[in-house]
Amino acid sequence: MQLTGRNIIGFESFSEGTVAIQGINPATGETLAPLFFKATLDELEYAAEKAEKAFQIYRKKSGFEKANFLEKIAEEIENLGDTLLERYTMESGLPQARAIGERGRTLGQLRLYAQLLREGSWVNARIDAAMPDRQPAPRPDLRSMERPLGVVGVFGASNFPLAFSVAGGDTTSAFAAGCCVIFKAHPAHLGTSELVGKAVQKAAEATNMPDGVFSLLFDDGHEVGMALVKHPVVKAIGFTGSFKGGKALFDAAVSRPQPIPVYAEMGSVNPVFVLPKILAEKGRAIANSYLASATLGVGQFCTNPGILFLQNNKDFMEEIEKNASNTQGGVMLTPGIRDAYVRGTDHSRQFTEVVGIGKAPEGFTAVEPIILRTDIASLNAKPELAEEIFGPTSLVVEANTKEEILIAAQNLVGHLTATVHGTPEDLEEYTELLDILEQKVGRLIINGFPTGVEVNHAMVHGGPFPATTDSRTTSVGTRAITRFTRPVSFQDFPDSLLPDELKDDNPLNIWRMIEGELKK
Ligand code: NAP
Repeated sequence: MQLTGRNIIGFESFSEGTVAIQGINPATGETLAPLFFKATLDELEYAAEKAEKAFQIYRKKSGFEKANFLEKIAEEIENLGDTLLERYTMESGLPQARAIGERGRTLGQLRLYAQLLREGSWVNARIDAAMPDRQPAPRPDLRSMERPLGVVGVFGASNFPLAFSVAGGDTTSAFAAGCCVIFKAHPAHLGTSELVGKAVQKAAEATNMPDGVFSLLFDDGHEVGMALVKHPVVKAIGFTGSFKGGKALFDAAVSRPQPIPVYAEMGSVNPVFVLPKILAEKGRAIANSYLASATLGVGQFCTNPGILFLQNNKDFMEEIEKNASNTQGGVMLTPGIRDAYVRGTDHSRQFTEVVGIGKAPEGFTAVEPIILRTDIASLNAKPELAEEIFGPTSLVVEANTKEEILIAAQNLVGHLTATVHGTPEDLEEYTELLDILEQKVGRLIINGFPTGVEVNHAMVHGGPFPATTDSRTTSVGTRAITRFTRPVSFQDFPDSLLPDELKDDNPLNIWRMIEGELKK
């Protein structure tokens, strides 16, 4: 398929703008054809107008119709074949195996949502029937369920050009909820975005979705993104990226005349704690797994373990010293991300000890892993050392006592994950640590590592601020759907006017809470 660089607005394509954007290959520094046209504010306006109209049709589509749409998107993405994989690797510097894996994850999440929609119980239908004879006052018939919010603005993430981009988790959960999407492409993978955007457009036409259910706009500054957040038609935002970007969008959204929710997944350092008995038993093995996790994918994961706490242990540190220099770096996603990594590690190195520097391959944005060490007192004196440096670096913090470990945990800000390594005896002895950590993160891991995020019904990929702007939800897994819905009660409605999910004879045969009991 030929790339055009044109913005996708519903079933049409436009290139009215005069500003061109061009991608770059982070491995070589070469610019990539074609030129992409920055969307104009008129084009955004047109996308919003179409989306608003489309929403009045799309919100009434059944779960089965939406499921067909999502499955068709998956099929169209698969049909892109090697063209998609080649463009992905060229734009991101990520290897083909990662492209294949991420495509699988993207197709998997589209199909998982299709299953959820066909099963149907996710709408959380509740029915409390009328009691006309109740004293002292009759009770009305009340039925409620989740209904879609409206048009959702989504920002693509640089580090997942497929799974957190055009047809990624935010778009998929918004479509599943019954919302239309205006997508702001990430400038780091413009071609991948257009290819997937075309697949979504084709799937929408093929499954009889309304013109405007999806639009894709290009921009390499903040004009279009900010205007999207402020547009009155837009009712929620999905975002994955930097703290600075996410917070700016959040601030803009809450200061609108009609504020809207922003689900921004931002930085996280994903602390790891290794407890004394397991350190004595398996310190060396854990050290090697930690190095592998911290440097996986050039450290460009939001669940990268950026800090590790332990009580002094010779084996663990010896192993890190021995093997840190053998770790492999790689090409980072963009020159900007590389520069931020170099700035961040240069700063941290002034206040910590460098335990080991890994290898960097050839490449325009290539960097090497850097493993650093400090102690609790130094961290307390310079708390910014615990802030995220996006990339293959991690800080080992040595403590002397259990008390110091507990205080360090108390001092943590919100993160996506926290990991504890311990024997059964360690975990018994450190239940207080687990209690503290549960209040700091969205996912707690025992004896594993945080990289590798399953997409399923139980996953929580979220956490207290500053990890996200809303800790009550997740951006991965099927729970993410309720970010784009709100509950609506229908009081004393005639059966024929109720949504199928709430009708007396339960035509969809879904689980519903009737008088407080789950029933079919
Ligand atoms: P970013 O700078 O936050 O950008 C993400 C998206 O938001 C881009 O489309 C960007 O547009 C847009 N944006 C950012 N600030 C904006 C603003 N003030 N107004 C309107 N739009 C705005 O993230 P990035 O480019 O992916 O990477 C930069 C840094 O983000 C990394 O070094 C890393 O620290 C962090 N990051 C974190 C995660 C994570 O999972 N937590 C993932 C990726 C990156 P433009 O690009 O057009 O400016």
